[in-house]
Amino acid sequence: MAIEYAQRIRRIPTYPVAAGYDLGADVAMLAANESHWPPAAEVVEAAAAALRGVHRYPDPAYAPLREALSARYGIPSSRIALGNGSCDILLAAGEALLEPGAEVVYAWPSFSVYAHLAAASGARAIEVPLDGEDRHDLAAIAAEVTVATRLVLVCNPNNPTSTSLPLDELDAFLAGVPQHVCVILDEAYCEFSLRLGDPYASLGLLARHPNVVLLRTFSKAYGLAGLRAGYALCGTDTFRTAVDQLRQPFYVNAAAQAAAVEALRHQDEVERRVVATVAGRQALADGARQLGLWVAESDANFVWIRVHDAADDRAAEHEAAVVAGLRERDVLVRAGASLGRAGYLRVTVGSERDHERLLAGLEALLPH
Ligand SMILES: *Cc1c(COP(=O)(O)O)cnc(C)c1O
Repeated sequence: MAIEYAQRIRRIPTYPVAAGYDLGADVAMLAANESHWPPAAEVVEAAAAALRGVHRYPDPAYAPLREALSARYGIPSSRIALGNGSCDILLAAGEALLEPGAEVVYAWPSFSVYAHLAAASGARAIEVPLDGEDRHDLAAIAAEVTVATRLVLVCNPNNPTSTSLPLDELDAFLAGVPQHVCVILDEAYCEFSLRLGDPYASLGLLARHPNVVLLRTFSKAYGLAGLRAGYALCGTDTFRTAVDQLRQPFYVNAAAQAAAVEALRHQDEVERRVVATVAGRQALADGARQLGLWVAESDANFVWIRVHDAADDRAAEHEAAVVAGLRERDVLVRAGASLGRAGYLRVTVGSERDHERLLAGLEALLPH
């Protein structure tokens, strides 16, 4: 007899994990949209100081982190949800909002975790194709909202296609979504967005649309992916209480809390890294375009590159060969096929040297 698991274990897709964490030091890690800069020394010291007290549980009220976020964004603590990475909040939102008979609407391709939410809950997933320029098609998404809809997910800028939408379009879209529907704007990359301008730009949406949740993370611009800390700025405190009710009490560990609080004190450093990343993404996109490749207009810390000819019906095969060839050159990127669209690569902005290695690899591997 084998162990019998719940139905949903057969439905939930396996997260497409990035490879390469077992490789040596000299690898261009361009597959997971991490920061290629280590955390600031003060941030490391804050985490280390927290380790000296880990015989105690972490602060269950998360007071310093909540207060630091509240002060920064002018949102009351009662409307700030925290999580073991923002994915933790996403999964809890799925549990809090979805069940059989309910519907969740999101664009596709978009963040791979979204597909998990319906599968885990038994709700119906409605995946709305991106438009011709790989952006969210808000009119098509709005058309899918019904009385059964509980949750709409909008990833802005979108992972994996790197594209973004202007706030006025989102605002008009939100005005048409009924108030009983929770809309999570996944802003994991908002700090890199020139279109948004700054991470305060979207806060006005919360005041106008209390059913909105802005999902943010310390994993990307703040460079703390390995510690796991994320947060959500919520239009209403019921979202926060619902996601807290579902989870274990200690969902952000003590080192992560301390590091996140300290990281928020170093906005100048964050800003410098963002500026360098934006310059890097332009250089990377230009380099790929010089090889004759189409690159989406990126507003994030990664670029989305088409590596197959539109007439080629073997896009997946071709893409897999390019990904494998890059890997042999110790350059790790993400294959579009694992993210919902074959024939593309998602490449994180890295160092200049990482980009040189990637572009040299692409030049050697692509047909001329
Ligand atoms: C990276 C990412 C996240 C953040 O995940 P964490 O759990 O906070 O590390 C959330 N949404 C999207 C779209 C992402 O790409």
